Amino acid sequence: MTVAARSPITSEIDFHADGKQSGFLRLPHSVHRSAYGWIPIPIAQVKNGDGPTLFLMSGNHGDEYEGQVTLTKLIQTLEPEAVRGRIILLPMANYPAAKVGMRTSPIDDGNLNRSFPGDPEGSVTQIIAHYIEHLLLGLADYSIDLHSGGSSLHYLPTVLFGERKDPAENATILKMMRSFGAPYACRFARSAEHVSSAAARRQGVASLTVEMGGSGTVSMESLKVAEEGVRRVMASFGFLENPDVVPEVETRVLSVSSNECFLYAGEEGLFEPRVELADSVQAEQLAGMIHTPEMPWKPSIEVRFKTSGLVVCKRVPARVERGDCLFHLGTDLAI
Ligand SMILES: [Zn+2]
Repeated sequence: MTVAARSPITSEIDFHADGKQSGFLRLPHSVHRSAYGWIPIPIAQVKNGDGPTLFLMSGNHGDEYEGQVTLTKLIQTLEPEAVRGRIILLPMANYPAAKVGMRTSPIDDGNLNRSFPGDPEGSVTQIIAHYIEHLLLGLADYSIDLHSGGSSLHYLPTVLFGERKDPAENATILKMMRSFGAPYACRFARSAEHVSSAAARRQGVASLTVEMGGSGTVSMESLKVAEEGVRRVMASFGFLENPDVVPEVETRVLSVSSNECFLYAGEEGLFEPRVELADSVQAEQLAGMIHTPEMPWKPSIEVRFKTSGLVVCKRVPARVERGDCLFHLGTDLAI
């Protein structure tokens, strides 16, 4: 049975037809208010002749908005005459989560970016993950998954990338990272198996994950980096007729090489940060204080960095529980 036949999702667009198409992926969902209903996951494709395929995705986490705005604007402006090959755009990948502005789905609590490779007979989120990995990434040569810090984190405009076994794939990914031209890039040593970048790797697709801002907002700065980065990757890989591929800034490449790069709250309370995004910090430097206003006489607790590096991501809400990520660091990497 083909992948498309195994999935309950049907597509309103024909992935093999030239031109600009938009519509929905229909995921059957029988509920009290709609017995024979389906979940409408928006999708668009712009195709002009034969050539490679770029798959662009956002709304993997529903409370990350920069990518959703970037792809929505791109769907409205990208015309087949200006394109070579095929560009598939999925702006609200976990549609139920994106519809309500949540990281996870209100239907099954599913975190799409922890659900790959998915299951065509599983929950709603697992069915979406399966369709993205096996059908959409199965069509693609290159992919970009646009994230941000969401509701609880804020990132410097950063591209995340991993290392593959195949040197040619690594070279392609590095070219994508340089073309995107974000101010920062982080190479992650850890490779989780249930994230979209692992799905792309399994499908032999050269991929980037992008982290743009966050805090549940859309900032002009983050949006500019995201929009220009996507356009430069399209241009660099031959998808646009008139490429202008020179990034405004050179990317500072960092490594996230160990768990020590991540700093967590060891107590609950109110977190007072003592460093900011883009600060260079040293091991043992004071990162902040956790206060307990419920018992204000209790001594506040110091939180110190475990390693040195650049602050690329910080927690947004002041209220913290034990186990919440407060900061993560990257260390300069020569590649
Ligand atoms: Zn995300």
